[in-house]
Amino acid sequence: MMRYQPGHRWGMLTLVRLLENPKLLLQCDCGQLITYTFTQLKHGKRSCGCTDMGQSIYFIRVNEYVKIGRTRTIMARWATVQTNCPYEAELIRVIPDTSSGTEKWLHEYFQYLHKQGEWFKYTEEMLTIIPPI
Ligand SMILES: [Zn+2]
Repeated sequence: MMRYQPGHRWGMLTLVRLLENPKLLLQCDCGQLITYTFTQLKHGKRSCGCTDMGQSIYFIRVNEYVKIGRTRTIMARWATVQTNCPYEAELIRVIPDTSSGTEKWLHEYFQYLHKQGEWFKYTEEMLTIIPPI
């Protein structure tokens, strides 16, 4: 079981440390800490559950730009962005289970940084902003 080192990744999950076998303490890219067993990972657990709860807002950063969008399948969307991009695409934030107005609100809030489509110039506030809806 010691073949996995802290930092090992399964989808959105990063290994924080091994707990009593067969449990692992993991941190999801949305920030949530969670304990799974190796069996759960083997059966496809790739997030804390934030991506199973419906439409989520994602922030995917590529260099100084960030794509802010909404999807039910964050891992697939992330993979699509990465496939179409020569630079590293980093999932920097997930806001789980959002209403339909949240994405629109965020796009308007960050309008002054708008580049094109769903792409905006990065600002640190993207990591902390809490939409009102
Ligand atoms: Zn999560």
